[in-house]
Amino acid sequence: MASKEYPTYLDGHSTTPLAHEALEAMAPWWHKDVGNPHSPHLAGMRAFVAVEAARENIARIIGAVPPEVVLTSGATEANNIALLGVAAAAKRLGSERRRIVVSALEHKSVLEAAQSLKRDGFEILVAPALTDGVIDIEAFASTMSDEVLLVSVMAVNNELGTIQPTSSVVALARSVGALVHVDCAQAIGKIEVDVSEYDFASISSHKMYGPAGIGALFVSSAATIRPEPISFGGSQEMSLRPGTVPTPLVVGFGAAAQLVGRRLQADRDHSNALQKIFFNQLEEGQVEFVETTPRSGRVPGSISLRFPGHDAMSVIARVANAISISEGSACSSGQIDYSHVLKSIGLDRTSALETLRMYFSRYNVEADAVAAARALVATLN
Ligand code: PMP
Repeated sequence: MASKEYPTYLDGHSTTPLAHEALEAMAPWWHKDVGNPHSPHLAGMRAFVAVEAARENIARIIGAVPPEVVLTSGATEANNIALLGVAAAAKRLGSERRRIVVSALEHKSVLEAAQSLKRDGFEILVAPALTDGVIDIEAFASTMSDEVLLVSVMAVNNELGTIQPTSSVVALARSVGALVHVDCAQAIGKIEVDVSEYDFASISSHKMYGPAGIGALFVSSAATIRPEPISFGGSQEMSLRPGTVPTPLVVGFGAAAQLVGRRLQADRDHSNALQKIFFNQLEEGQVEFVETTPRSGRVPGSISLRFPGHDAMSVIARVANAISISEGSACSSGQIDYSHVLKSIGLDRTSALETLRMYFSRYNVEADAVAAARALVATLN
């Protein structure tokens, strides 16, 4: 992936490069095959068929059926619809459950959406995390009661790459009759995802080598409460998400999903191999580093680490001509405070501000892993 012109891109938790196949699949739909899938003419019908084929590919990789896949602008919107839409629907249906449980590791689009529901009379419980970067399941269990309407947790954390104990969360939620939403934005393409145990799940195309600006909310046909729309307009997307369906983006998302279906294991092996090469090189360079959480609990290729005594932003700047890497969380870039995720797993401010995040993706090559380690070693020595 390295070229003379550009630094090696290693920030796949922020966004992944578009798959070539997705780019190709999208190309005709911008101009030659233009069409709104809801128009009554032939161009519209062709777009409709393309969108439905993509929906099928997306459904297939998560173990859903196409009518359960509601296209959105991304995981942020999917998360907002899941939380706000379910809360509104529950109230309207006369449910007396007023508690929503999330974890401290969640993305801001879950945490802030949940907090906004306080003004509607909901109580938000935030289950803590453990130092190894996963939800404290015992503490989570202690929040369970028949007052819980919904639990919302992520499958993989975006700052740490840690795989979360979603099966335990589902079992606990079910034991009190609560609904379950899982933010799968960082899981698709990195681990096997099966949403059949969930009521709702969020997906983001640009985290799985598809185009940005598109994603989906899985709404199980078995969910006892279906979210209400949170914005209003046309009746697109099963009347849950109004707005013209962006055919080219959906087609690209579908092509990316198809590739994930075919390549998941190969991609995992590849990311794992590059990660090993990177660590071997780093060790050879004899620089002191500390991984934020144990390697075994993370998705392959995902690295969160710090070089004690070296501020992350200054390391990022010094290696910027060679590699593109992020501080602990790119989502909170520019904020004075440090990442809520790193705080939740017990990192002090100094350690948190030293923390770097990287991801070796499908499109990185061995030379990238070597170059990344060498650039870091050179700058630290
Ligand atoms: N959830 C998680 C776990 C994420 O990592 C992200 C993206 N940083 C989102 C939600 C938001 O996704 P999108 O960019 O598609 O809105």
